[in-house]
Amino acid sequence: MSSNNKIKVVTPIVEMDGDEMTRIMWQMVKDKLLLPYLDMQLDYYDLHVKHRDDTDDQVTVAAAAAIKKYGVGVKCATITPNADRVQEYHLKTAWKSPNGTIRGILDGTVFRKPIITKNVRPVVSAWKKPIIIGRHAYGDMYSNVEMQIAGAGTAELVFTPAGGGMEVRKIIKEFQEPGIIQGIHNTDASIESFARACFTFALDQKVDLWFSTKDTISKIYDARFRDIFSREYENNWRDKYRAAGITYFFTLIDDAVARIMKHEGGLLWALKNYDGDVMSDMIASASGSLAMMTSVLVSPRGYFEYEAAHGTVQKHYYRHLEGERTSTNSMALIFAWSGCLRKRGELDRTPAVVDFADKLEEAAIATVESGVMTGDLLTVAEAAVGNRKVDTEPFIDAIAGNLQKKLS
Ligand code: NAP
Ligand code: MG
Repeated sequence: MSSNNKIKVVTPIVEMDGDEMTRIMWQMVKDKLLLPYLDMQLDYYDLHVKHRDDTDDQVTVAAAAAIKKYGVGVKCATITPNADRVQEYHLKTAWKSPNGTIRGILDGTVFRKPIITKNVRPVVSAWKKPIIIGRHAYGDMYSNVEMQIAGAGTAELVFTPAGGGMEVRKIIKEFQEPGIIQGIHNTDASIESFARACFTFALDQKVDLWFSTKDTISKIYDARFRDIFSREYENNWRDKYRAAGITYFFTLIDDAVARIMKHEGGLLWALKNYDGDVMSDMIASASGSLAMMTSVLVSPRGYFEYEAAHGTVQKHYYRHLEGERTSTNSMALIFAWSGCLRKRGELDRTPAVVDFADKLEEAAIATVESGVMTGDLLTVAEAAVGNRKVDTEPFIDAIAGNLQKKLS
């Protein structure tokens, strides 16, 4: 396509490049699936671990600021350095997770959504449509204070008001023998922001929102989550949800778990930190492959950042460096781009861009459904004579072929 025929993306897209095998695939996806068709301005941030090191991680902060400016970004997977990586890349220090840094700046919630094809179906046969998980990523057990109790004694919860006032005390347990205790917390502000992100994203996706806690047992802590969600719904969302034909549904976590196994999917399930940690792994595993899971960070102020849920696929990258063939799956990376483009098109009111995003996803799904797939999918796909494993680049080429047909 000449540049006059290309589809115009009006507002710049914040692009965050990454590491290892995903960086290799990222370039292929851009070169073969995006740049030939789109006239877009990319506000590019190189989050390669070495460049984060060179900039003392300021490039990550700048990328987050750019998402605040333009509203929509797309991110490649990145290395979160540990001691081994500090050595491998001669880093100044083990920089923090870029995802953590960006989430902190945007105050966002992460939603994970599986990609479903006809031949790679969830193990749970009832699930026909994606179950999106929204996990509250603050507090609870993840910032706990815990203690081993050596023997007999009194364990108490104590709250001391700042600037004086009465201390509040509650006995946890009069220990007669050794044991354990744990203190956890959350804040109203964080729960409110989580609730807002969930209501925003369910409306964005036009799916029902479920929220579940153990409020029958935890009558103050979990009940606080329930009440904040309920207040947020009544004050800000009830009318919008009715207009969109979707509902908000609160139920006990046990009930939600039992229901979800028989539900057809097509909903957003909001969960507390621990519940979301556990349930998102269950949904991911039931969906076939890590490479079929997409992820989007939604801020309560309406910023969106799209990415694949998987990491940099380090083992495949080392094989790639050795000159070996790899069969690494680019589906989640492609859906990160399509998600970002669709959102950009919606915000800019450019239906051609939304249509391109739809066709890109259709082309990718059609490729897998035709039996052309990467190694990770071949092991979980329904057996069929036409199934064949292809390498990393030919897989993207096959999608490019299907996309070309759809666009012409
Ligand atoms: P990973 O990159 O997700 O890969 C784990 C394994 O899952 C791979 O070895 C591969 O299994 C399979 N896999 C994942 N994605 C695949 C794909 N697209 N196609 C085919 N197979 C795929 O996790 P990791 O190896 O634990 O982490 C590697 C690096 O990624 C780490 O430095 C970590 O910090 C980083 N990371 C980044 C993010 C992020 O940026 N969002 C998230 C997680 C991890 P087989 O080897 O069996 O083929
Ligand atoms: Mg987990």
